[in-house]
Amino acid sequence: MPVGGGHRTGRYPGSPRGRGTKRVARTYNVVTYGCQMNVHDSERISGLLEQAGYVRAVPTDDTPDIVVFNTCAVRENADNRLYGNLGRLRPVKDKHPGMQIAVGGCLAQKDRGDIVRKAPWVDVVFGTHNIGALPVLLERARHNAAAEVEILEALDVFPSTLPTRRESTYAGWVSISVGCNNTCTFCIVPALRGKEKDRRPGDILSEVRALVDEGVLEVTLLGQNVNSYGVEFGDRYAFGKLLRACGDIDGLERVRFTSPHPKDFTDDVIAAMAETPNVCHSLHMPLQSGSDDVLRAMRRSYRSERYLGIIEKVRAAMPDAAITTDIIVGFPGETEADFQRTLDVVREARFSSAFTFQYSKRPGTPAATMDDQLPKQVVQERYERLVAAVEEITWAENKRLVGETVEVLVAVGEGRKDERTGRMSGRARDGRLVHFATETADGESLAGQIRPGDIVHTTITYAAPHHLNADGAPVAHRRTRAGDAAEAGRSPRTPGVLLGLPTIGAPPVAPAPAAGCAAH
Ligand code: SF4
Repeated sequence: MPVGGGHRTGRYPGSPRGRGTKRVARTYNVVTYGCQMNVHDSERISGLLEQAGYVRAVPTDDTPDIVVFNTCAVRENADNRLYGNLGRLRPVKDKHPGMQIAVGGCLAQKDRGDIVRKAPWVDVVFGTHNIGALPVLLERARHNAAAEVEILEALDVFPSTLPTRRESTYAGWVSISVGCNNTCTFCIVPALRGKEKDRRPGDILSEVRALVDEGVLEVTLLGQNVNSYGVEFGDRYAFGKLLRACGDIDGLERVRFTSPHPKDFTDDVIAAMAETPNVCHSLHMPLQSGSDDVLRAMRRSYRSERYLGIIEKVRAAMPDAAITTDIIVGFPGETEADFQRTLDVVREARFSSAFTFQYSKRPGTPAATMDDQLPKQVVQERYERLVAAVEEITWAENKRLVGETVEVLVAVGEGRKDERTGRMSGRARDGRLVHFATETADGESLAGQIRPGDIVHTTITYAAPHHLNADGAPVAHRRTRAGDAAEAGRSPRTPGVLLGLPTIGAPPVAPAPAAGCAAH
């Protein structure tokens, strides 16, 4: 259980200001489950708490004063996991008077008051639509010595207007929309995050510019269905225009987005990707199933032919594009023939990576009550065949890059073996993970000079199914402002309202849906 913390000096939240007394600041820890939306929401939760005077707990120190669980509702056993964690925290709380526990996110939106009924030692429950209320709810719970449960049915303010504590100096998420107007039968998002709400293009571009001014090189535009962006203000070409507008931002080197929906994918987006130099040639487009019957049962209104047609056009416009996907195996009613269709599409699409999920019932979704739920062993066996097929293809696709020189944005936390192997790691423009050697041809180590956020060009010498190695000397190294910030250990805080500032940490680089969640 990731709780750990400590005390620092600072203003005590809720304590009177300006009395000249130095108080011990209360510390917080945010525990995040689920998809990129939740990861980005947790950046906002941290930003809000820091604006309110809390400081982030140091993991090796004592117990934090506040623990926030930002939950996910997509897993069958998500609630068991939450209540297990809450149960383990109870004796900790008993020993630390004044400690507070808050539960937010999708499971909180779904279970509401049940959470404090089942775990009465929880102080605050807040939903996906009112993240901004968290500091006030904590204060009110403390003052009244009673639990506060506040769930809204619709968004009060667009979450991007909240202060944000960014986790990376060089890469940032930027929300373009929240919610979803689709009704995929396996998905809980429409029930918990509501209808799609689009942010104004000017607000999005201002946030991107502010991030770039802080040294950020890469931005990932985030929405449940980025291709339907503009539906609220009546412009079905708004997403392609937004990509092109990002191309005009000086200093922005990489633009990514996640996730597009094949149903709404229009040709102008492909043209915008191909014609805007800073838009990366990587596309994460969820397939879910290659069987048209299963797609119909999932209520996903494209068919495999359309899906493959989009890939064909993307490849024609950008032959170097890396295409990644999400696939669910074992959806209710899926036959062996349906599964074979998925394998056919996988072979034809030649994905560079795929997030594969075994279907599991998600309470509150239509698919959870469908007949023909498949036995676990059937799902497992198909899943293993799918993983083997995907690996064979991704490995073959990766091998095509051996001998190529690629541009790598140096990352934090991408290479678990780096210390042992003397390598550093980062992502190529197409999103592939690259581990690279840092010795020059003369045997000098550049490890002390290359910083997270810098750009390195290096030549691929070896391909594995999930990463590439570059074991020769780097071809070039460019120091960047993001690297300067990382080197300085700069951890800027949110100035007040609206936009967050980046801090050093793990990058939100590649499309990386958390298990079974970012299935759009
Ligand atoms: S899977 Fe994606 S597109 Fe479908 S309802 Fe959920 S969020 Fe919307």
